[in-house]
Amino acid sequence: MHRRTLDILPCILLFWLGLAAGPVSAVDLDSGWEYRWGDSPFTASGVPVWTLETPEQSASDWQAIGFPSNPPGRNGRENVWFRTILPDGHWRDPVLYIFSVDLIVEVYLDGHRIYAYGQFDAHGKGRFEGWPWHMIALPEDGAGKPIYFRIFSDYMDIGLWGEVKLMERLELLRYILGNSVERLITSGFSLLIALLALVFALLRHESRRFGAIALFALASGGMVLSGSQINLLLIDRALVWDYLGACGYFLIPVAMALVLEEWLRPACSSLFKLVWRFHLLYLVGALGLSAIGVVSLASTYPVFDALFSLTLALLWAPVVRFWRRVDSDQRAILIAYAVFSLLLLLDMAVAHSLLPWGRIPVAWGALFFSLSIVTISLRHYIRTQEALKTMNLVLEARVRQRTVELEALAARETERAQWLELENRKRIELEDLISVLQDRRSLRESGSILSEALPKLCRPLGGAFYQFSATDDIYQLRAHWGDPPPTVPSERIASRQVLDRLADPSEPGQWCFEIGYQDPRQGEHLLGCLWLHCPSGMPDDQRLTWRRLIERGVERINLTLSTISFHETLSQLSYEDGLTGLKNRRFLDDALAQEIDLAQRHERPLSLLICDIDHFKRFNDTYGHAAGDTVIKTVAEHLAEVFRHSDIVCRYGGEEFVIVLPGAPAEDGLHRAEALRSRVAALDLRHEGRALGSISLSVGIASWPEMIEDPSELLARADQALYRAKQAGRNRVERAA
Ligand code: GH3
Ligand code: MG
Ligand code: MG
Repeated sequence: MHRRTLDILPCILLFWLGLAAGPVSAVDLDSGWEYRWGDSPFTASGVPVWTLETPEQSASDWQAIGFPSNPPGRNGRENVWFRTILPDGHWRDPVLYIFSVDLIVEVYLDGHRIYAYGQFDAHGKGRFEGWPWHMIALPEDGAGKPIYFRIFSDYMDIGLWGEVKLMERLELLRYILGNSVERLITSGFSLLIALLALVFALLRHESRRFGAIALFALASGGMVLSGSQINLLLIDRALVWDYLGACGYFLIPVAMALVLEEWLRPACSSLFKLVWRFHLLYLVGALGLSAIGVVSLASTYPVFDALFSLTLALLWAPVVRFWRRVDSDQRAILIAYAVFSLLLLLDMAVAHSLLPWGRIPVAWGALFFSLSIVTISLRHYIRTQEALKTMNLVLEARVRQRTVELEALAARETERAQWLELENRKRIELEDLISVLQDRRSLRESGSILSEALPKLCRPLGGAFYQFSATDDIYQLRAHWGDPPPTVPSERIASRQVLDRLADPSEPGQWCFEIGYQDPRQGEHLLGCLWLHCPSGMPDDQRLTWRRLIERGVERINLTLSTISFHETLSQLSYEDGLTGLKNRRFLDDALAQEIDLAQRHERPLSLLICDIDHFKRFNDTYGHAAGDTVIKTVAEHLAEVFRHSDIVCRYGGEEFVIVLPGAPAEDGLHRAEALRSRVAALDLRHEGRALGSISLSVGIASWPEMIEDPSELLARADQALYRAKQAGRNRVERAA
């Protein structure tokens, strides 16, 4: 990595000449070297005194050395001189080629300074100016003359380094070009790889992996290119090339750690991160401090080499540790890393004279590393793409399947929503039916109400509603909708038979529901039955839901009918006389006012009779209370027979009866009263087989408008008439006066 400069630039042509020329025949200056620590004093005319002394004069001051580098016993000294005798030879345009010098040099021949690199100050010191290769023009007659090298170095090495050859200028140029070709090719490849990896990274194909590869290839390419000796023929700025080389060289551990971090992830991520961050910091610090002159660029190399060797060793730890766990790609990366890091260590060993000087193929190593990684990456990339393709196919299939499932789910949801809406509508319709039934407060019309409401309520199911007669010997088809209902052979048939005929268990889509109620007095009463059938093709689960819905509806209807029946019975009981079954006095109170009102409104006559059994107390006393009850019941039965249905016949209390005859004029009323009286008087009464003899009735009658003017006085006036009938000897009819 260390070289010297040339003052000539127009050598592009020479490059071709060099390639065309024959083999190089150089002479190595590898014997007769002597060194002398310190710096020579100078004559007033600026000639170093040590160059003026004859070898014999100064023999004791100079020590022999195999190669003019790092003489023993330095002891911190920064100045040293070397000399040797130029060999014999026939040279047309001889030059001295030095691979590199640590750090600045002046060359003297015949007391003349024939070459200088770097600036010596009055104290013989100077600054680092880079490590170019050197071409020192020699006079043709130099053979056999001593040549002196004045050296300054505050670096760890001092003196010439690498190769020192005497050759023709053209030969040297050919030699330089030959050496450079290898580096140009490898660096060209590395830079190409960097470019390709960068393109991949930018295309977002595993960006971080390819980014790391791009950085590594760029760093190694830059390092190799900057170390190419031909550079100085193109741009004669040794320091610039050295900075570029340092930058590439210092970047290598950064890029290596990044590559390893990406490839061995997640193993040792934090170690790799630490390494690349540390080296990046070193790179910025070292180059920055060199650039502003705080340290010399040369002095950053030994420190870096020490750190780098340590890093290479450190990075080996995870490599060994994870070897068994990593896959084949990762192993290949690790092998490439091992080869390259070994070459780097060898190169460092040569640079620090731990090994004899030789060209270590670091450039090829870097290229090998880059190519390995790129090959593995591409293999990996292709495999990933194939895996992605397969995964895409699997995903697409899954998406298709999921879509089908979702569509089915959506269809089911829609169906469910429609069903819920339908169920809700049915519930409202059922509530409407229930409230209509309840409003009527009577079971008399419930058959008609049901036959009107059930078709709408049960649709879309088809069906029929059959009603049974109160005597349960006739049925009637009140309504049917949808398919024709099953026929029942005869109309004169008991409800049980109808039900048996309709409830066919072999038909799963057909059901028969009983519609009826609990009568508080007579127990269960069947009003009719609801026959239903599902449309063909209705799924089983839907059929089952419908069945449950209808069952609940029928239950609700039956419950409502039972409630109505209960209320009806209750109201009947409150108007009915328990012993005779006739209406009671409470009913009369309500009904009479209504009849009076109607009679007045329609100007229709109204008659009222009060009957009282004569001497009933005596009868009770004679035959007992039970016999008395039989008499009251017998009289009541005759009352029901003598009077019309539209007449109101009540037991007014005890053995007294009131009969209201709407529309009956006085004559009609008298006629009936008389008929009743004579009929009762003719009765031959018996109780438990015992003859009770006969009884008589006294009757008072009032008729509006013939007998009285104010119809509201009917009852009172009839009562007065009864009183008079009793007074007049009983068993007679008396009219209101
Ligand atoms: P009169 O000819 O003046 O009407 O004489 P009476 O004995 O019928 O007169 P009263 O009205 O004083 O007596 C009615 C009797 O009827 C008194 C009561 O013991 C009897 N009685 C009232 N209710 C019943 C009933 O439900 N069963 C029986 N067995 N007797 C009753
Ligand atoms: Mg009485
Ligand atoms: Mg009486």
